[in-house]
Amino acid sequence: MNMQMMRGATHDVLILGTGLAGLRAALEISIRTRGAANIGIVSKVQVMRSHSVCAEGGTGAVMRPEEGDSLELHAWDTVKGSDFLADQDTVDRFVQAAPDEIRLLEHWGVPWSRREDGRIMQRPFGGHSFPRACMAADKTGFFEMRALYDTLLRYNNIKRYDECFVTSLLLDGDRFAGITVYDLPSGEFLVLRGKTLLIASGGLGNLYGFTTYSQTVTGDGQAIAYRAGLALEDPEFLQFHPTGLVPSGILMTEGCRGEGGYLRNNKGERFMEKYAPKMMELAPRDIVSRSEMTEIIEGRGFSQADGLDFIHLDLTHLGAERINDRLPLIREVCMKFLGLDPITQPIPIRPVAHYSMGGIEADIDGRTRVENIWAAGEVACHSMHGANRLGCNSTAECLVWGRITGGEIAKYLQAGSSFSEVSEQKFHDEELRIFGGLLQQSGTENPAQIRVELRALMDKHAGVYRTGESMKEGLGKVVELKQRFQGISIQDKSLVYNTNLVQTLETENMLDLAEVLLVAGLAREESRGAHARTDFSKRDDERFLAHSMVYFTGGTPDLRYKPVTVTNWRPVERKY
Ligand SMILES: Cc1cc2nc3c(=O)[nH]c(=O)nc-3n(C[C@H](O)[C@H](O)[C@H](O)COP(=O)(O)OP(=O)(O)OC[C@H]3O[C@@H](n4cnc5c(N)ncnc54)[C@H](O)[C@@H]3O)c2cc1C
Repeated sequence: MNMQMMRGATHDVLILGTGLAGLRAALEISIRTRGAANIGIVSKVQVMRSHSVCAEGGTGAVMRPEEGDSLELHAWDTVKGSDFLADQDTVDRFVQAAPDEIRLLEHWGVPWSRREDGRIMQRPFGGHSFPRACMAADKTGFFEMRALYDTLLRYNNIKRYDECFVTSLLLDGDRFAGITVYDLPSGEFLVLRGKTLLIASGGLGNLYGFTTYSQTVTGDGQAIAYRAGLALEDPEFLQFHPTGLVPSGILMTEGCRGEGGYLRNNKGERFMEKYAPKMMELAPRDIVSRSEMTEIIEGRGFSQADGLDFIHLDLTHLGAERINDRLPLIREVCMKFLGLDPITQPIPIRPVAHYSMGGIEADIDGRTRVENIWAAGEVACHSMHGANRLGCNSTAECLVWGRITGGEIAKYLQAGSSFSEVSEQKFHDEELRIFGGLLQQSGTENPAQIRVELRALMDKHAGVYRTGESMKEGLGKVVELKQRFQGISIQDKSLVYNTNLVQTLETENMLDLAEVLLVAGLAREESRGAHARTDFSKRDDERFLAHSMVYFTGGTPDLRYKPVTVTNWRPVERKY
């Protein structure tokens, strides 16, 4: 192809991702700089299609100290839920900052559900010892995104790059200089330069076949940062949510159990009695998911031909009024997808890939090892969720670290930062790799098929229960798929809105992330939080009270460890 002039634009700040974390940060920077910072926000989909709009159940914060809740209790629940892998200073900062975010969103227009006395309604959520999930019925993420988006429209210093796919980071030595972007509507390849970058590109749920995540959530930000030399921390901790609708994987929010829903096996028993007698259905997600799988493996689930054996989520005792008022989306989804009304019938569910506790290593301020790159939201690992995240702590985390990183970036700009050099050579190398190489090559492998196989193997080899043998076999298959990927051919050769090309780039990212997850999982010879091995079934604090850190080498990933910050609580046995 013909090499053209490097085209693009320049901004003080670039934000990769327009979910809750990215939008909250864009607002914080705008507020702190009184609209003086010139911000470019980039998303591969239209802003309101970011996965955050799908968040259902609620956002966690302590709003009622006078009724018995406390910041210390929220911190303790989070640390215990994390199976003691969370950095406790980070958790403290989180719980302190979360309540203000709820009040701020109130001012920005979130129509929180209300109690009789007019105060914001909070429902119980798994692993929390107090009702803490602030909710807007079961569409919390949608209303939060809408409020942030509305507020963003008041500022004219923010330029949107919707439907622009970021393919790589350009560094100048050890400093960030720019990102390369495939602009789908125009078909152009661009460079966006910035003094700083915030990566807020969300999770990686589509690594799995059975997942709650939108098709677009493919871990691009993690993979791009990893290949640019940043570490991925704790990637083996992938959360399985206990209630994915069978067979689609659509999330049945934890709010269903928060409102009083039961889990029942094929004998009609509330089996959580055996596994978490105190908290029952509202034990943390890792524990409930394992309990469901044990019931299924031991023959007390409901079988069906496609292998997606299931358990019942029973809401029938809640009554029509409560379901219509608090869980309208859940009812609508059940009726539309299964022709089933949860007011009168139980819902078929099973554990489903849901959330990535790990991510790009970032410190308590959200700063990465590259001085002018920050990370916030699900893509980041400031290590507040450790080995298992509590429900409703993620949307809250996005808001809190959107605010923190936004504030830090504003300070950085005000201190007089400068641009780094973008290498024209590196830009053209990336352009050639994609539009000369990937797009033009005519191999025999179909990239879509590789994606399907990858997702199926992750379901099989890195699921709720794992063994070394199975993860090793899975890793071998990933390496094989990576080799096959070298011989792909992309059918659609056009430049404008080539979704075939975008999906291929995503698959390439997913292959790297699958390898990273399995390498870290194999090496962690213990069971902790969501990483449950039947061959090493106990937690091993002697060897593994440590964060996994995986680095890109071009060959086998390089794995190291770093210590966990323990301030208040030494690890103890988790009982619920
Ligand atoms: C169905 C569902 C329900 C949930 N419910 C809750 C809940 O009730 N409470 C809770 O606390 N958590 C919940 N979660 C988790 C929580 O919603 C997410 O962790 C959180 O919203 C992630 O937000 P984010 O800002 O990090 O990223 P996202 O909202 O995922 O946004 C990512 C952004 O990055 C962009 N992007 C990604 N890759 C690229 C690329 N290559 N180029 C350009 N742009 C890119 C995307 O376009 C998007 O704008 C839920 C998750 C799901 C899937």
